[in-house]
Amino acid sequence: MDEHNCDIAIIGCGPAGMSAAINARVRGKEIVFLGSEFCTPKLHKAPHINNYLGFHSISGEELRKKFLSHVQAMGIEILKSRVTAIVPQENDFAVQTKEKVYNARAVILATGVGVAQLLPGEDEKLGLGVSYCATCDGGLYKNRRVAVLAYTHEGVEEANYLAEICEKVYLLPLYKENPKNHLHVHNNVEVIENSKPKSIEGETLVSGLKLEDRTLDVEGVFITRDSVLPDKLVPGLDIEDGAVKINRSLSTNIPGLYAAGDNTGQPHQLAKAVGEGQVAALNAVKYLDGKYSK
Ligand SMILES: Cc1cc2nc3c(=O)[nH]c(=O)nc-3n(C[C@H](O)[C@H](O)[C@H](O)COP(=O)(O)OP(=O)(O)OC[C@H]3O[C@@H](n4cnc5c(N)ncnc54)[C@H](O)[C@@H]3O)c2cc1C
Repeated sequence: MDEHNCDIAIIGCGPAGMSAAINARVRGKEIVFLGSEFCTPKLHKAPHINNYLGFHSISGEELRKKFLSHVQAMGIEILKSRVTAIVPQENDFAVQTKEKVYNARAVILATGVGVAQLLPGEDEKLGLGVSYCATCDGGLYKNRRVAVLAYTHEGVEEANYLAEICEKVYLLPLYKENPKNHLHVHNNVEVIENSKPKSIEGETLVSGLKLEDRTLDVEGVFITRDSVLPDKLVPGLDIEDGAVKINRSLSTNIPGLYAAGDNTGQPHQLAKAVGEGQVAALNAVKYLDGKYSK
C-alpha cells in the first residue's frame, strides 16, 4: 500500500468535517480529507432548516451545496474513501482505507452517528473473523468460505475481490435500492437476497453466519457500512453514553485525536457540528504547533 503523510487527517465529510477542513486549511496545515460517496445524506434529508444563523428557512440540500462550494472554493479535495481503521502509532496515526494508508500527525473524527446497532457477535468477533475491509484482510481468508454483508454498494466490489481468493463467497445486498439493478458478480459469488443476518456465530473464531432461514458455514464475515462506530475505528478510544468522550478542547483520551459533530453526543444539530469542527481543528493545530514547531 502507498504511504502518504499529512498534518491532519479529517474523517467524515459532513458539516463537522467540512468546518474542520476549512479551518485547518486557513491555519496552513496539510490535510487529507476523507469522506463518503455523498456528503452528507443527513443534511440532504433535512427538509427545512430554521435554526442555522444567517440562513433563515433554507433546505438542507441548499445548505449542503453551499457548504460543498465553500470547501471547493478553498481548493480542498474530498477523497471519497471510507476509512476502515485508525491506528495510533508512536509518532502519528495510520489511517487505513481500502486503497491506501495515510500517515497523519493528528486526526479529527467527524463521522456523524450511523449504526445504531451492531449484529450480535460482531463486536466480539472483530479481528477474529469479522472485518470491515476486504482489501486489508482478504488475504487471511485464502481458500476459505466467507460472507459479505453489503449495507453499501461497495460490498459488491468487496465480494468480487474476495471471490478471486476465497473458496466461496456469499453476498447479502442489504442496501436500500433494488439490489438487482447493481449486481454484476463473479461466478464464485452466491447472492442471497431474501434473508437477513441475525448473528455471527463461533466459539472464539467465526464459524458461521446465522440468517433468518439458515446458517451459512463461513469463517469470515466482511461488513461494509457507511459508517463504523468510532471505537471500532480506533482501538482504545473512550466512549461515554454512546458518544465519543471528549473534553472542552474536543480532544479524546488519545493524544492527537479529536472528535467533532454528532459523534460527540447530543444535540445532534448543525450549528454544534460546524462549531465543533472549528474548535477541533484549531486545537489540533495548537497540538501540532506545540509538538513540532520547537
Ligand atoms: C431529517 C433531518 C432533519 C434535520 N434537521 C435539522 C435542523 O433543522 N437543524 C439542525 O440544526 N440540524 C438538523 N439535522 C441534523 C444535522 O443534519 C446533523 O446534526 C449534522 O448533519 C451533523 O453533522 P456531522 O458532520 O456531525 O455528521 P454527518 O452529517 O452525519 O456527516 C458525517 C459524514 O461522515 C461520513 N463517514 C462516516 N464514517 C466514515 C468513514 N469511516 N470514512 C469516511 N466517511 C465516513 C458519513 O458517511 C457522512 O457523510 C437534521 C437531520 C436529519 C436527518
